[in-house]
This record gives sequence, structure tokens and C-alpha cells, in this order.
Amino acid sequence: MDPTPVATPATFNRYTTSHPPGADPGPRPYGSARATVRTRILIISDTHGVQLTTEPPPANVDAPSSPCTLHGHSASRSPFHYPLPEADVVIHCGDLTKRSTIEEYRSTAALLRGVRAPVKIVIAGNHDVSLHDSYYRERVASFSKDDRPDFGWLSRNLATNHDARTVIASSSPDDGIIYVEEGTHDVVLPNGASLRVYTSPWTPSYGGWAFQYNGPHAFDIPADADVAVTHGPPKGVLDYAASGDRAGCEHLFRAVEKARPRIHCFGHIHEAWGAYYGHWAEAPGVVGPDDTAMTEDDDPHDAYETFDSASVLSISSNRSLPQQLPPPQTLRYFDTSRSRRLEDITTIKLAPLIDSEDDTREKRARYAEYSALGCRPVDITMEGDIPVEKGQQTLFLNAAILDRRYKIAQFPWLVEIDLPMA
Ligand SMILES: [Zn+2]
Repeated sequence: MDPTPVATPATFNRYTTSHPPGADPGPRPYGSARATVRTRILIISDTHGVQLTTEPPPANVDAPSSPCTLHGHSASRSPFHYPLPEADVVIHCGDLTKRSTIEEYRSTAALLRGVRAPVKIVIAGNHDVSLHDSYYRERVASFSKDDRPDFGWLSRNLATNHDARTVIASSSPDDGIIYVEEGTHDVVLPNGASLRVYTSPWTPSYGGWAFQYNGPHAFDIPADADVAVTHGPPKGVLDYAASGDRAGCEHLFRAVEKARPRIHCFGHIHEAWGAYYGHWAEAPGVVGPDDTAMTEDDDPHDAYETFDSASVLSISSNRSLPQQLPPPQTLRYFDTSRSRRLEDITTIKLAPLIDSEDDTREKRARYAEYSALGCRPVDITMEGDIPVEKGQQTLFLNAAILDRRYKIAQFPWLVEIDLPMA
């Protein structure tokens, strides 16, 4: 399993080497040279079986039949419309379906096939129960409606494990779809770049869904991973749920802080879509401010000096909107003078009762720009406006496309990054 790194567009899939969780992936097989290749990574998550919209914006975005919400930007297009920008690789951070039906898997496979990118790395999310082999075998195949009336839909429409895998995991190599579970993967892209990516569909237990754990979970992110792809957010960063809870995982945050991939992308908490440019406070390898498990000490109200909780209004209501979402809970791990929020739902959603005229003008301009591009672009090369250097900074991205009501609401990310040449 140590293929010679020769990649052509037709055969690149053969040059993916995967290492299971817990196994030492060793030094990366390609890409140790100093030369780098500029690479565009298109990142999406939580599409739940929806298709890209092709229609003009709906007249009334709050109508029940409307496929998307435009956050008041009625003159702009949907945030997720055809065609998506071209990229060298697409990453889907899970929740390919809403109810794990075969129609939803087919819809997602069609969506991925339609993106103009030669490689698409895909993980599952907690909704994709058919893809979780042991969950399917033990909890679904033997499922009884009497046991769980709330899961009644499962018995009627759920794709079988075999069918879901056939549609997603066994797509034609020409489609470029690489379905992976937990582990480290070395991929040679057709543009000549070497990508080392860590993936994990696992999230903390919440309601007994697929790929969920109770207690701790080992996220073995190798120190030389370029990108960490997980379904769930790390504790404290872009994980602020409308319920007011921080829904991310502390073990995941620890692993990311230790490995410091240049990008950590995820979804799961739809309303926490956004980007955070985290500049690490300590040099790589230095033990963080608190090496014990995160506790209530990390309560945001203690950790922030400048955060005024009264400014955070309900984000579940359409009319009221937080002026500012709380900053990362794990703020003391970051050098706050150099870290910053690039985007979150409050930077795109119009809030007529709160926004000044300037705010409104700026939001309209930004929304129109992303809408025209079909993405929110971020350049993290050393020449870019958000330079990310390995070990110094991590770009955190919550890439959920749908909002809490499962309507298309948020933009994909297009990240420009320099990767080692294979
Ligand atoms: Zn989701």
C-alpha cells in the first residue's frame, strides 16, 4: 500500500491511501518537497439531500414552499445555486441526508457528481444512519416501531445499508467521490498537490443518532494533516446552538489544538455557520493554558472580558437577531489580538431593527458578491488576506448549507491554499 505518486485525472483515485483510526499513518508518502501547488478546496456540509437551486430568488422567502431563505436579501440569488464554483477538491462534512432515504442519497450523489471538481471527499453525519454499519445492523435492522414510535419513519423509508453504500460509497471512480469514515487519508490531486486529510463522522451523543459516542472519543489527527474534516464542531468554536448550548466536543478541540491543521471544517450545528481565524496563543507543542479536561471553568461568561451576553438575542426568532454571536469559548487558547471572526450568520443576515444604514449597505454588498460567486472565498496562502501558517493559525469553518428549518441558507466556502507538491 505505498503507491508511486503518479496521478492523472482518470486514475487519481487509485492514489488514495487510507489509514484507519488508531493506526500510525507514518510520514506522509508524498509532498515532502518544498514546492507547493495552489489548490482550491470547496467545502460544504449538511446538505441533507437538497439540490442546488436553479430558480431566481423566491418572492417571499418565508413562504412554506420556499426552498431557501435569503436573510432579507430579496434581490440576490440563493446561497447554494447552480453552478457551484470550480475547485480542485470538494469536501462534504456530512449529513448527506435528512432521513437516510435512498432518494436523498441519490440526490446527494447527483449533487456531488455535478460539481466541477475531480475529487470529492465525503463523510457521513449523524443523520446518515444507513451508512453506519453497526448502528444499522444492531439498531435499525431489528427496529420495532413499538419500541420507538418517534422513529417510526425509520421503518418505512430508510435506505438499507447496502443500498446507501452502493449509491454513495461505490460511485464510479470517474465521479471522483471518495467516501471515507474515520482515519487519515493521503490523496494525490490531479493538479499535482498532495493532501493529507483527517476525517471523522463522529459527534457527541445527542438523541441516539448514528456515529455518536458517550464520554470521550479519540480524534487521532496527525500533526502533519493539512485539513481536519469532522461532522461536528470542536468545543467552543462555531458551535453555538440556538438553544444557547455550546454543542461542540472538547476532545475534538484538544486534538485540533495539538495537531493544528491549517483548516478544520465541519457542520452539524446549522445555525453556527461561519469562519473563525484562530491564531494560536502558544507556540506549537507548548501545553495549552489548561491541560485537564474542559470543565465549567470554560463557561463563556467567565472566559470573555468584552463579551456582553445581553447583546445576544434569540437566534431562533426571525425578527430578532444577535448583534454579535459569542466569541469562541476556548478563547484563551487563541491570541485574541490576532484572531478574528471572518463571518457568521449575523454578518450576512439583515436585521432591520438593529443594523445601521451602513451595516445594511455593507451586508447587501457582501451578500450580492458571495451570491454572484456562489461561495464565500477565503485565501489562506501566504500572499492571501488570511494567511495561515502551519502550527501558527487554524482556519475554522462551519460549512452547514441548510439552516435549522432545513432550508438553504448559507454559502459554501472556497478556500485557496498552498499544498505540497506530490
Ligand atoms: Zn445537519
